[in-house]
Amino acid sequence: MKGIELVEESDEEVLVRAAAGESWDDLVAYCVVRNWGGLENLSLIPGTVGAAPIQNIGAYGMEVGECIEWVEGIDLRDGSYHSFTGRECEFGYRDSIFKRRWKNIFFISSVTLRLRKKNHQIRVAYGAIQQTLQAMNCTTPGIDNIRAAVISIRKEKLPDPAITGNAGSFFKNPVVTSSLFAELQEQYPHIPHFILDNQLVKVPAAWLIEQCGWKGKISGRVGVHPQQALVLINCGGATGSEIISLAENIQTSVREKFGIALMMEVNVISSQRDVQL
Ligand SMILES: Cc1cc2nc3c(=O)[nH]c(=O)nc-3n(C[C@H](O)[C@H](O)[C@H](O)COP(=O)(O)OP(=O)(O)OC[C@H]3O[C@@H](n4cnc5c(N)ncnc54)[C@H](O)[C@@H]3O)c2cc1C
Repeated sequence: MKGIELVEESDEEVLVRAAAGESWDDLVAYCVVRNWGGLENLSLIPGTVGAAPIQNIGAYGMEVGECIEWVEGIDLRDGSYHSFTGRECEFGYRDSIFKRRWKNIFFISSVTLRLRKKNHQIRVAYGAIQQTLQAMNCTTPGIDNIRAAVISIRKEKLPDPAITGNAGSFFKNPVVTSSLFAELQEQYPHIPHFILDNQLVKVPAAWLIEQCGWKGKISGRVGVHPQQALVLINCGGATGSEIISLAENIQTSVREKFGIALMMEVNVISSQRDVQL
């Protein structure tokens, strides 16, 4: 299902509906070229538009749910049409209603996004965006510069799944209580973190995995990417079981060292059979 259409336009904003089968990054490019802001930090995330709301794709300080006005589609049980407002999608960190109550029973046919035509919210605080913009000699970035910076960082840090099999970030960044975080900070004064509120702190899973010595470690046909410890890689011919057992070993070492349970971000669709990947 293809197609991108302008549904509504004012001086400030546009409503854009994209069909589920469009490539996500083609949609981002389409919007950035027209100076419609909101999606630029999500540049180069692989996949389709229809999959984007499922786990509320996010990167570099932005999540797609922030721009979603409606998600439309079909209840696969009876073929009836449904439309969810952004609020009804119950977006959370790599989470939505489509991963819970509507899992496997709702087919998303289109996603409608509210984007800005001016007064763009330029987000440069997260990750290496600022340094990359500096290297590009860009002092007052527009959304096209943000897209260029994100693409450059992602190309440098993430393996291309067409060459090296991977599913992107394998684990979610864990959110821990402030008291556990205070204990960890005493032991590891340089622990990177992001304070969510008075009680909760997000810790980068990649840092925890790296501290356990996994970054760049190859074991048989699977391993941890040398540039990004959150990405597990298939070095060629590995089975699903080999990937899962590596993931479980990583979870065990992080739990033993830090007392933190790492949750998988990926969907495991078959853990019974040894699926050739
Ligand atoms: C190198 C790499 C980097 C990545 N970086 C990021 C990142 O920065 N941030 C991020 O959030 N994710 C990231 N990902 C994960 C991935 O890109 C997203 O999850 C993306 O949305 C998957 O799209 P897809 O079309 O391949 O969906 P699939 O993986 O095929 O499907 C994902 C889930 O959505 C369901 N689904 C798909 N389409 C529909 C539909 N139309 N209706 C109902 N259900 C549907 C599927 O059944 C499945 O459960 C990365 C992946 C890779 C390989």
